[in-house]
Amino acid sequence: MKPETLAIHASNLVKNTTGDVTPPINLSTTFFRDENGGYPGGHMYSRVSNPNRSALENTVAKLEYGEDAAAFASGNNCGMSLFQALKPGSHILAPDDMYWGIKKQLLTIFNDSLEFDFVDQTDLELIKKSIKPNTQMIWIETPSNPLLKVTDIEEIAKIAKANGAILVCDSTFGTPVLQNPILLGANIVMHSSTKYLGGHSDVLGGIVVTAKKDEFWEKIRNIQQTGGAVPSPFDCYLLCRSIKTLAYRVKGHCESGKTVADYLVRHPNVEAVFYPGLESHPQHEIAKKQMKDFGGMMSFLVKGGVEETIKVVNKVQLFAQATSLGGVESLIEHRYSVEGPDSKTPKNLLRISVGLEHVDDIIADLAQALG
Ligand SMILES: *Cc1c(COP(=O)(O)O)cnc(C)c1O
Repeated sequence: MKPETLAIHASNLVKNTTGDVTPPINLSTTFFRDENGGYPGGHMYSRVSNPNRSALENTVAKLEYGEDAAAFASGNNCGMSLFQALKPGSHILAPDDMYWGIKKQLLTIFNDSLEFDFVDQTDLELIKKSIKPNTQMIWIETPSNPLLKVTDIEEIAKIAKANGAILVCDSTFGTPVLQNPILLGANIVMHSSTKYLGGHSDVLGGIVVTAKKDEFWEKIRNIQQTGGAVPSPFDCYLLCRSIKTLAYRVKGHCESGKTVADYLVRHPNVEAVFYPGLESHPQHEIAKKQMKDFGGMMSFLVKGGVEETIKVVNKVQLFAQATSLGGVESLIEHRYSVEGPDSKTPKNLLRISVGLEHVDDIIADLAQALG
């Protein structure tokens, strides 16, 4: 089945006596055993598994062409679980503009137990040179946050394989309908499902998909079930509901994203636009090779300095000045002031998540704010 069809039907496969077409929210934390001590319903205790979470995991595993998936309480918790699964002393090669919340985990939680380097992963030679004997994981994020850098998944997968490292791709900006890292050689794909999968800025979650049910995957599953940072049945239900429209929402985000990027590029008060769909984007060719379309995320530099930038962000009316992304509503954010003084993000950078309002209204709002 095509992704549009799978997204609608994969989570609906529950047959029960009430004949629901849409699976109900199953709040039971515990499940009946039979006379032989087995669990005829397939579930024992809802930290370990429950029907709504299984429906979500099966759906995203299918959409990402993986063998299995594990849902967590947040995108960040996917990072925690993947790092916890590594042997102490392992080395991770991560991107220099890694999502700051996950970078912070390495710097402040795993700083005593793991080694890591942050490098510009658009430079394949630099990646090869940065591999160490104890490199167990290469972590990529593409397109990246907030500079929308695109890394070559297929080429980095070859480097990871040649060096016996696990390739993890944070594909949150990509979404399962725009790119499928497992088909390009990644071992693990993760999404902050808070973003496009949820799509309505009302549910927090993360999901990890594996290419193979191997030994590393057993560890992840154990960390999920025993660690217990799992999403609630209601959160899983909301995500299954949202995923049904994912393909069509993403189509809208991409279409308007392209129009907004073309508008910003030509605006006299804009210094630069970072959007993988622009021919001027340094990795546009790689984006074309590995993505079906270019998404609704972009960032741009406002001409002048930080003062002019803050003025723009305070003048928008339709856009919400707020963090996060991937929802139906357009969001705008001054990343530097969120990331703090250690951030390498330019001070005149604004990141926008193009929503599903009419693109004329989105552009009118940017026009009045940019002057
Ligand atoms: C938001 C985000 C995360 C973290 O996800 P949460 O659900 O906020 O914990 C990780 N990676 C990327 C690229 C993100 O945008």
